[in-house]
Amino acid sequence: MTTTSTAMALEDRYGARNYAPLPVVLTRGEGVYLWDEEGRRYLDMMSAYSAVSFGHSHPELVAVLVQQAQRLAITSRAFHTDRLGPFLEQLCRTTGLDRALPMNTGAEAVETAIKAARKWGYKVKGVPQDQAQIIVPHGNFAGRTTTIVGFSSEAQYRDGFGPFAPGFVQVPYGDIAALERAITPHTVAFFVEPIQGEAGIVVPPEGYLRAARELCTRCDVLLICDEVQTGLGRTGARLACDLEGVKPDGVTLGKALGGGLLPVSAFVAREDVMAVFTPGDHGSTFGGNPLAAAVGLAALQLLERERLAEQARVRGAQFMAQLAALRHPAIAEVRGRGLLIGVEIDPGFAPARTVCEALMREGVLSKDTHDTVVRFAPPLVITEAQVDAAVEALSRALRAVEAGRRRVA
Ligand SMILES: *Cc1c(COP(=O)(O)O)cnc(C)c1O
Repeated sequence: MTTTSTAMALEDRYGARNYAPLPVVLTRGEGVYLWDEEGRRYLDMMSAYSAVSFGHSHPELVAVLVQQAQRLAITSRAFHTDRLGPFLEQLCRTTGLDRALPMNTGAEAVETAIKAARKWGYKVKGVPQDQAQIIVPHGNFAGRTTTIVGFSSEAQYRDGFGPFAPGFVQVPYGDIAALERAITPHTVAFFVEPIQGEAGIVVPPEGYLRAARELCTRCDVLLICDEVQTGLGRTGARLACDLEGVKPDGVTLGKALGGGLLPVSAFVAREDVMAVFTPGDHGSTFGGNPLAAAVGLAALQLLERERLAEQARVRGAQFMAQLAALRHPAIAEVRGRGLLIGVEIDPGFAPARTVCEALMREGVLSKDTHDTVVRFAPPLVITEAQVDAAVEALSRALRAVEAGRRRVA
């Protein structure tokens, strides 16, 4: 107990207070499990916001990381390396697109997509200088840079951080008529999450993405899908756009692309979109480094070889069916695709944070999103029995919260 409080006290004393973590100090992870300082084991239902899709410390990915670190880790893009080409080739194969630009964090991939879309607008579409507009849905989450929070609809993400970059227009998510009305001759891109993750696992109406694809094609607007969270098997398909048979003009990837070991992201796009970049236009000291490329390639190969998208589809269906079968009055809704699942908790019952704290005591780690939603997004390697265990833990946690409420009342 003393070590636990010491670790938390140090974070509290010396860290910026930009997070409010659950009171647990993790020291080890393996597969779907995490362990705290007292050796207590937890099922991980967060997967670091989907960055740990392959499970913690996947032995094959760790081996690639260690071997590559011992051989060659960072060179900058001033030189070629033997690792980058194969990684880029696999990124194009996985997405069905033509060229990839590697970065590190998801936010950087998004910034890259914004730059590409704007420059495409000026050089290819013929939009007058500095007039490019990008349409984004209400409820979007795409990272924390000033440009990105500038087009967020979340007051807290923006408060105190302005002035913001112009050139973004918001429309309601899932509303194709609103998108059509918002498009002007200056619109260069519609930048959209196929399923909104941070907004609370919001699934748009069936056919939304397909209709957006047709509209964008007709109006000469790029459809760029932000798949930093939904990509790489998470929703039961390689990309969440595949669920609707939609091929975007560009896609941002991140999170799971680093195999749960390091930050790796990319913007992948159609030839004529990526063609706007010429040497010196854009870059990153660490983007595309051999360490990241080796791990990213191994992660993409593992996704195919272990059929993790299929795994997410099957286990996700089991998970959602069992959550629905609880028929618990506190559960207002269960939604999601694959292993990206949100459980909406009736706010009259308890805040989602309270449910997460009770889940923690039952050996399951998750985090609330937007006060009312508990996220269930485990590593895609989760087994049938582990899904059973997570649902049973939720059932016990809800009973414990209920008992606590009765005691208070
Ligand atoms: C997490 C996330 C990002 C940002 O990724 P970071 O690595 O945190 O910068 C961008 N888009 C979506 C959809 C995300 O979920």
